[in-house]
Amino acid sequence: MKLKDIYKLSDTRTDKKKPVISFEVFPPKEDFEEKSTKLIDEIECIKKFSPAFISVTYGAGGSSQENSLELAMKIKQQAGLIPMLHFTCIGFSRQKVLNYLKTIENAGIEHILALRGDIPEGMKNPIFDFKYANELVEFIKAHSNLSIGVAGYPEKHREAVNFDEDIDNLKRKVDAGAEVIITQLFYNNDLFFRFIDKTQKAGINIPVVPGVMPILSYKQIDKITRLCGASIDESLKNYLLQHENDPDSMAKAGLEFSQKQCQQLADAEVRGIHLYSLNKFKHMVTLLENLL
Ligand code: FAD
Repeated sequence: MKLKDIYKLSDTRTDKKKPVISFEVFPPKEDFEEKSTKLIDEIECIKKFSPAFISVTYGAGGSSQENSLELAMKIKQQAGLIPMLHFTCIGFSRQKVLNYLKTIENAGIEHILALRGDIPEGMKNPIFDFKYANELVEFIKAHSNLSIGVAGYPEKHREAVNFDEDIDNLKRKVDAGAEVIITQLFYNNDLFFRFIDKTQKAGINIPVVPGVMPILSYKQIDKITRLCGASIDESLKNYLLQHENDPDSMAKAGLEFSQKQCQQLADAEVRGIHLYSLNKFKHMVTLLENLL
C-alpha cells in the first residue's frame, strides 16, 4: 500500500485520536547476522500496535548500504512487516542511484525515505549529482514506483537561512512527489504545532507525521539534539537531571515525559506518530501501552 493510502485510510478511522504508528530502527553495525536476527525476534513485541511500517536508517552512525537493505528485507520476509528504506543521495552519481533503486525494487521494497544526507567529514570532492533532496524525489518518481517520504524540521534545518526558506524547500519535495513528511525529533509539542501551521500556510497538504524519540536518559537526548539541531527546554532538562544519579528512575521519568508528549499529539489528532525506537522495543511497548 502506498504511503498516501496508509494515511488516507487512517482518516476514515472512527477514533481520530488513534494515530497511525510507525517505528524507526537502525541496522546493527557489527556482527550484523547475529544482531539482526535478534532484532527480528525482539520486534515481535511491537506487532500488537499494528505498525504501518518500520523505517530502516541508512548510513547514519556508519551503517552500510548493504546492511540497511538486508535488514529491510528481513523485516519484510521474516517479521512480516512493511519496511521503509531511508536513502541519502549525497556523494552518489545518478547512475549509482538508478542502480540502487532497481536493486531495492527487485528486492521487493516499496517505500523509501528520500534524503539528501550530510556531507561526510573528510570526503574529498563529493559528487553533487543531487544537491538537495527535492532533486532525489524527482528522480525516484521518474525512475521507480516507490512510494516516497521526506524529512521535515520543526525547528528548521540547521543549514537553512531562515524558517520560511526551509518551508519553501520542503514544499519543493512535496511538489516533486513526496507523499508524507516525517519530522525530526523535538521535545516541545508547540514547536511541532507551529511547524504544522507553517506547512499549511505554505499549501503543503500531505500528512506531516511527528517523529518522537522516547527519552531514556538526559545524556542520550543531550547528545542527539546537539547532533541534529533540536532543542531541550530548561524545564525538561531540570526535570530529568533530578534523576541524574539513578538511571532507572531517569528512564522512568523520561518515558513518562514521552508518554505525555505522545498523548498530547494524539489528542491533537495527528495523522501518525513515528517513533525513533533506537532498537529498544520493550521501551516502545511501555510507552504505547499507556497511550490513550
Ligand atoms: P534537504 O531537504 O535537501 O534540505 C537540506 C538543506 O538544504 C535545508 O537547509 C534546506 O532548507 C536546504 N534546501 C533544500 N532544498 C533546497 C533547494 N532546492 N535550494 C536551496 N536550498 C535547499 N541521515 C542519514 O544519514 N541517514 C538516515 O537514515 C537519516 N534519516 C533521517 C530521518 C528523518 C525523519 C530525518 C528528519 C532526518 C534523517 N537524516 C538521516 C538526517 C538528514 O540526512 C539530514 O538532516 C540532512 O542534513 C538533510 O537531509 P534532507 O533530506 O532533509 O535535505
